[in-house]
Amino acid sequence: MPKLKLRFRQTPPPRPSLSGRLALITGANRGIGLAIARALAREGCNLIITARDERALAKARIELENLNVHVLAQSCDVRSPDSVDYLFARVRGLHKPLDILINNAGIGHPNRSVGELPYAAWMEVIDTNLNGLFLITQAALAVMKRGSTIVNNLSIAAERVFPGSAAYNASKHGALGFTNTLREELRPKGIRVIALMPGATDTAIWNTLWPKAPRRKMMSAETVAHTVVDALRLPENTTLEKIVVMPSSGTL
Ligand code: NDP
Repeated sequence: MPKLKLRFRQTPPPRPSLSGRLALITGANRGIGLAIARALAREGCNLIITARDERALAKARIELENLNVHVLAQSCDVRSPDSVDYLFARVRGLHKPLDILINNAGIGHPNRSVGELPYAAWMEVIDTNLNGLFLITQAALAVMKRGSTIVNNLSIAAERVFPGSAAYNASKHGALGFTNTLREELRPKGIRVIALMPGATDTAIWNTLWPKAPRRKMMSAETVAHTVVDALRLPENTTLEKIVVMPSSGTL
């Protein structure tokens, strides 16, 4: 009989638990934001969820509370400094540091060439996807400590370009520059910064971007949420700086 060779393997470092951590998610009343909120709640995270539509936000709060975590739902328009101030006054009222920030709120615009894109559409997209990202992040930094993590939901449009989406592409390219700068600034402070770059994901944003887009080729928001939880559960001395998650068929 052949001799069995025993190999001793190194035990992998334990995956940190997210249970009892506090996470704030913008754009959490539907789509990828709500999927991330659900996934974090299943890990035992307490949540602060925010978006503009209060009815959808209240519905999300009730659903998430059923997963036995604490949920603060506060409406906020990420474009408005006053609205962001009010949100963070409520966050400070919890008297707990923020462990996880998910900057997810974002919008697209109808497919138009640069020559035809209304200035108002350009402004709205830049204001939401870029200025809003700055406002929320700056306010959050005051309540974040060593060991916490910021995830910015960008898009593959942060590195690639899609003709007809100039404002969206520009906002996400700018948001990647912001994210990369933030990572270097926060590295000595022990705060991790992750650029989340999903490809096409089946959410309501496509009603604006491309209403007839082939949804069956897209990923689910839950798949994107799983990648976020996996990254957050890496050992604390490790970081996944960039998550690119794509439908296996590639771009649409
Ligand atoms: P949805 O349209 O389903 O969700 C967008 C979310 O952002 C909603 O919760 C919306 O809530 C919120 N939001 C929009 N504007 C504001 C604002 N001014 N202030 C606060 N909240 C706001 O789309 P997705 O889930 O797809 O989008 C989420 C993020 O994912 C976006 O940043 C998007 O660019 C990014 N992304 C999406 C991909 C996709 O294929 N779906 C791929 C790659 C990245 P409300 O309207 O109530 O404010």
